Amino acid sequence: MNCVEFRRQLAIDPQATAADFVQHRAECPRCAEAHARALAFEGDLVRALNVAAPAQLAEAILLAQTTAERRRRTNLRRASMFALAAALVLGIGVVGMRAEAKPLSVQAVEHLESEKEVLALTAPVAAAEVTATFAKRGVTLKQVPDGISFVAPCPVGASKHRSVHLVMPTADGPLTVIYVADQKVGAAADFERDGLRGRSLPLGNGTLILLAKSPAEFDRVEALWRAAIAG
Ligand SMILES: [Zn+2]
Ligand SMILES: [Zn+2]
Repeated sequence: MNCVEFRRQLAIDPQATAADFVQHRAECPRCAEAHARALAFEGDLVRALNVAAPAQLAEAILLAQTTAERRRRTNLRRASMFALAAALVLGIGVVGMRAEAKPLSVQAVEHLESEKEVLALTAPVAAAEVTATFAKRGVTLKQVPDGISFVAPCPVGASKHRSVHLVMPTADGPLTVIYVADQKVGAAADFERDGLRGRSLPLGNGTLILLAKSPAEFDRVEALWRAAIAG
């Protein structure tokens, strides 16, 4: 199991006890730390649900029992539907929070990992295709940087962020550029994840994310996209 597989499993079930899951946690300090954070979050959720949910459900059942003496059939059916609805709402709430808890940088790395084959592309893409792809995301480019070998209007992350995914081959290896048009991070940050170096920064109305094995070309490529998007 690698880091990406581990994080995917972690998102599904932090309590997982499968041998490969446990083994990766023991061997990888960063994933072990993520696991500890997930368990703490899980604990908070369980505590929150234990306080709020049974109180509401108990009330609903009590109400149903009282009225049941008068209108037995209808109200029991309604109460069980209410309990089912409450359980559904709570369940959806938990899933929604998990999906949103992932930072954009993590979603970008996971997206790259899921489409690794495009890193091998080297033939240049026409500038008109780059312009058209950004236009689909509501972004008018002021100019198109040279040296783009892949462009696609990919949905990124569980909440399908409106993004443009690009690859730029450099002397230092392929550099992935992901422009998330519908979410703007507060501040620029460099990061390291799953053996990749990364940079995310607010640009225009969205977020520019750079990913590569080394950050050697980040400054040059950042300047290109600043000129292209912000002008
Ligand atoms: Zn790991
Ligand atoms: Zn993509």
